[in-house]
Amino acid sequence: MTKLVANWSFPTAIRFGAGRIAELPDAVARAGMKNPLFVTDPGLAKLPVTASTLKLLSGANVAHGVFSDVRPNPVESNLDAGIAVYKQGGHDGVIAFGGGSALDLGKLIAFQAGQTLPIWDFEDIGDWWTRADADAIAPVIAVPTTAGTGSEVGRAGVLTNEATHTKKVIFHPKMLPVTVIADPELTVGMPPFITAGTGMDALAHCLEAWCAPGYHPMAEGIAAEGVRLVLENLPKAYADGTDIEARAHMMSAAAMGATAFQRGLGAIHSLSHPIGALYDTHHGMTNAVFMPHVLEFNRSAIETRMARLAAYCGIAGGFDGFLAHINELCAELKVPRSLPDLIEGLRMEEDRRQLIADMAIVDPTAGGNPIELTLEGALDILDRAMKGRG
Ligand code: NAD
Repeated sequence: MTKLVANWSFPTAIRFGAGRIAELPDAVARAGMKNPLFVTDPGLAKLPVTASTLKLLSGANVAHGVFSDVRPNPVESNLDAGIAVYKQGGHDGVIAFGGGSALDLGKLIAFQAGQTLPIWDFEDIGDWWTRADADAIAPVIAVPTTAGTGSEVGRAGVLTNEATHTKKVIFHPKMLPVTVIADPELTVGMPPFITAGTGMDALAHCLEAWCAPGYHPMAEGIAAEGVRLVLENLPKAYADGTDIEARAHMMSAAAMGATAFQRGLGAIHSLSHPIGALYDTHHGMTNAVFMPHVLEFNRSAIETRMARLAAYCGIAGGFDGFLAHINELCAELKVPRSLPDLIEGLRMEEDRRQLIADMAIVDPTAGGNPIELTLEGALDILDRAMKGRG
């Protein structure tokens, strides 16, 4: 069997393989950091995997601080608190350790600590990123513990604006971590719900990138292989969290999803973002609830393309076979059958229904959907997700 260990330089330097977290002190030295801030979330902060990682730093006499006031779907107050700790501690870089929430907030602290303009001025719109002082952006080492968002290889961070209840993407090319340590052993402790939700997020990234219109053959190739890796390995990682081979392939698929979605995302994310912002649901699991409905909604535009993907993944029956496979996967991973199953006590009054659809069609991901996402279309998908999978 091929040894699942390698050094990659695409899209950034990635030290991939089980046990490679041991190289963290070396990665810190090579990144030129003398006193990094270790950013994680409060749940992870209590786990042995974090204690043993911090011990690696102390053991190598690497001065560091720790910040863990990061909630899932991080908000501006988390960023402000992180920047205050970063400045007080005289830090010169960030080790972002965790799932997408901690990775994004770590990247945002390193980005924003040296800026003078407010964070919302750097939303991923046109060339807004050029407003930033690029020289003031600190380096980041990203260490994912979920598989996942792929934030470790991304040039953006997602932050919820509590004032407007919207999830905003903050973008700058220099937000791309200088080094990633992708060690699948760090993901072994993920409980099944998080394994399923984060794995479905990786699938949503690859799938939407595959379906997005536009010319980007490199991203297409990565997306197709990413889908295959998830379909073959997520059920294994879910059934046996200690299956390190399946965990390794999922870690690759997560990074591949975020690399591929340069080609675009689509309506899964356009609907999932407002739901996440309004109800604080898990991002990947919300994507999973919408996935079969968006595939069905986009059928006319993606039927041939999905048949090609199904064939590549060894699934018979073209589009219908692929859709049936996704429905079976959702059932196997115990993905909530409908939005009311995901969100306890959900009541979809008419003004709420309209608000979610209004937010979906202006979400930046809507432009990548293979057919135009109109208000009627967004309402249609929302209604399907309220009813649930068959
Ligand atoms: P998360 O980071 O919110 O973590 C979810 C939970 O899993 C937390 O309670 C955390 O403590 C726990 N956890 C993480 N690793 C664990 C481990 N190894 N063992 C046990 N528990 C563990 O979840 P996520 O899905 O990785 O990230 C979601 C966030 O990422 C959202 O805010 C979303 O908007 C963002 N996101 C960013 C991008 C991007 O490109 N930057 C892409 C997609 C999503």
